[in-house]
Amino acid sequence: MEKASPFTAFIHRFSKQIISNRSGKFCFCCSAWIFLCWFFPLTQIVSLGVEILLAFFRWAQLARPLELFQFHLWLIAKNRLPTQVSLLSYGRIDHALCAFCNVTPDSIDHLFFDCHVSATIAYFWASRCHIPWRNRPWVNNLAWAMKLLLGKDFYYSIARFSFGAIYHLIWKKRNSLIFRGEMLEISAMKNHIIKVVRENTLTFTNVLDNTRNMRLQRSWGLDPSIFSNALSA
Ligand SMILES: [Zn+2]
Repeated sequence: MEKASPFTAFIHRFSKQIISNRSGKFCFCCSAWIFLCWFFPLTQIVSLGVEILLAFFRWAQLARPLELFQFHLWLIAKNRLPTQVSLLSYGRIDHALCAFCNVTPDSIDHLFFDCHVSATIAYFWASRCHIPWRNRPWVNNLAWAMKLLLGKDFYYSIARFSFGAIYHLIWKKRNSLIFRGEMLEISAMKNHIIKVVRENTLTFTNVLDNTRNMRLQRSWGLDPSIFSNALSA
C-alpha cells in the first residue's frame, strides 16, 4: 500500500481532528478544483470558462472554514495561487506591488510570511499558540508544520486549524485590499483570527484540562466550558 506523503498526512489530520463527524476527504467541488489545478496551468483553467470559476466561488461562499483552509493550503502547496509574481511571469500584468507593504510584487514566499505585515500575523498566531516562530520560506514553513503540528489532541487541533486560518485570512485580505480598496487594519485581522478560532471550538467538550490546554484556552479566550466533564466522565 502506498504510503501517504507528509503533506497528505498533514492535510488529512487537519480535516479530521477539529470536527469529529468529518470524513477527512475533500468534497466533490474541492476535489474537482484540485484536479484542475494539478493538471492545468492557471491560464488554461481560466480559459475553461467563467462558469467553472463562478461555480467554484459559489461553493467557496458556502463551504465551512475548515474546508476553505484545507483547500487553500493545497493551492499554496501546488503553487496555484495567482500571485503577482505568477501573473507577471505569465505577462498577465505589467506592474504590481504587494498590497500590504507596497515594496515588492507578492509571491507565495513573500505573502507567507516574508512581508512584514503577514509576519506580524504569523507571530501573533505563534504567540497565541505558545509556539516559537521564525520566518522561513513557504516550503520550510510547511515542513515545519508537518513535523510539529501533527499531534492528535486538542492543542494540536487548534494550532493546526488556526495555522490554516492565518494563511486563508492573509490571502483573503490581500484580495480585499487589491480588488475592493479596503483599508489595512492589522488589529482587525488579529480579531478575525480570534473570532474564527473561538467559533470553531464552540462544540468542544471534555477537553483535558492540562496546563497546555488551559494556556491555549486562555490565550485565545476560548469558552472554559470546553473542559466540562473532562474529569467527571
Ligand atoms: Zn508585502
